[in-house]
Amino acid sequence: MPSIDIIVPVFNEQDVIPLFEKRIKDVMQSCDIKWRVIFIDDGSKDDSLAVMKSIHESNNQFGYLSLSRNFGKEYAVTAGLDHASADAAVVIDVDLQDPPELIPDMIAEWHAGFDVIFATRKARHGESMAKKATANLFYRIINSMSKIDIPKDTGDYRLMSRRAYQAVNKLRERNRFMKGLFAWVGYKQKQLYFEREPRAAGTTKWNYSKLWRFALDGITSFSYMPLRFATWIGMTVAILAFFYGVIIITKTIIMGNDVPGYPSLMVVILFLGGIQLTALGIIGEYLGRMFNESKQRPLYLIDEYQPPEQ
Ligand code: UDP
Ligand code: MG
Repeated sequence: MPSIDIIVPVFNEQDVIPLFEKRIKDVMQSCDIKWRVIFIDDGSKDDSLAVMKSIHESNNQFGYLSLSRNFGKEYAVTAGLDHASADAAVVIDVDLQDPPELIPDMIAEWHAGFDVIFATRKARHGESMAKKATANLFYRIINSMSKIDIPKDTGDYRLMSRRAYQAVNKLRERNRFMKGLFAWVGYKQKQLYFEREPRAAGTTKWNYSKLWRFALDGITSFSYMPLRFATWIGMTVAILAFFYGVIIITKTIIMGNDVPGYPSLMVVILFLGGIQLTALGIIGEYLGRMFNESKQRPLYLIDEYQPPEQ
C-alpha cells in the first residue's frame, strides 16, 4: 500500500490541534492508504507540545518534532519534510484553513501521475480590499520578475511525491521562500481549487510588516531584476544628464551665463540622491541575504523528536 506523511507546522495552537486531529483522522481513515502525521512544534509558548504528546500517546500514527525555538513556518515545514520518508508528503496548516477533505482528491491526482498537487483558494473571504489588492500586486510583480511561475492565491498546502519533496529538501538556502522553492522543482504539477475557511480557533501570526518582509524575501530570492532596474535607471539618468549638459553648455556659449539655475540644480541633486540611495538599498537587500547564506548556520535545531510509528 502507498504511504503518505502529513507535515503540520504548529505555533501556539493548543486549541485547534485536537480539532485538527479529529478532522484529519476522519478523512484519512476513509482513504485506502498508509498515513502518518508529524506535528512540528515551532517553539510554541502555550501547551501545544503537551497536546501533541498526549495525542501521540493515544494514537501513535501521530508523531511530533519540536524545534529549539520559534524559527518560522518555512523552517518548521522544512524540518518536517526533512523527516518525511513516505511515498508522498502533504503540507497542511493546523488551523483547518486548509480543509483536510481535499487530501483524497490530491491522492487521486497523485495516483493519476502528478508529482505536485497544490491547492489554490477560490475566493479570499473575510479579507480587506487592501489585503487582496496587495496580494494581487505581489503575485504580479514576482511573476513578471522571475522565470519560475508562482501560482496565485496558493499557500503551502500541497501533496508532493517522494521525488518532488526530496528535491525541495535538497534546496538548503537560508532564505526560504517556500512557494518559490516548491515551484522551482517543477515536475508534473496539478492545481486544485478550494474554499479557504476561517480559522477554527486561535489567531493568525501574520501582520503587514511580516508580509512586507515576506514579499521582499520572495522577490530577492527568485529574481535579480531589482538590481538590473538600478542599472537601467542609472544609465537612463546619465544619458539624459549628458544631453542636458550639452544644452546648458551650448546655451551658455551662445547667450552667456546670468547665474540662474538654483531650482534646476536642486531638482537634479535631490533626484540623483534619491536614486542613489534606492540603488544602495537594493544592493543592501541582496548583500544582507548573502551575509545570511554565507554564515552556513543550520536551518533549524531540534529539541525533541518522537516519530510516528512506521
Ligand atoms: N506557524 C508556524 N510558525 C510560525 C507561524 C505560524 O509553524 O512562526 C504555523 C501555524 O501554526 C499554522 C500555519 O503555520 O499552522 C499558518 O499560520 P497562520 O494561520 O498564522 O497563517 P495564515 O493562515 O494566516 O496565513
Ligand atoms: Mg491560518
